[in-house]
Amino acid sequence: MASTMRAVLFHGPEKGFEISSVPKPQIRPGDLLVKICAAGLCHSDFGVFKGNPKPKYGYPIIPGHEGEPSANRVSRRTPARMMLTL
Ligand SMILES: [Zn+2]
Repeated sequence: MASTMRAVLFHGPEKGFEISSVPKPQIRPGDLLVKICAAGLCHSDFGVFKGNPKPKYGYPIIPGHEGEPSANRVSRRTPARMMLTL
């Protein structure tokens, strides 16, 4: 499995977008890695694009939190957190 994925990165208000290769999330025991086939943008994303609200962990961000998932890799334990990949 490739260690990187393509993603749209948003660098902040007035700074624009780019399509880039980013590291895939690494799973730990209890994690579920979910492959996202497509993701939509909603009004929450557009607020972040304008800087209000600011993203919790700063810029750059990968926008789109309403995705169409398919299970990808599951660890042995019951998933405690979910990670997304494209
Ligand atoms: Zn939303």
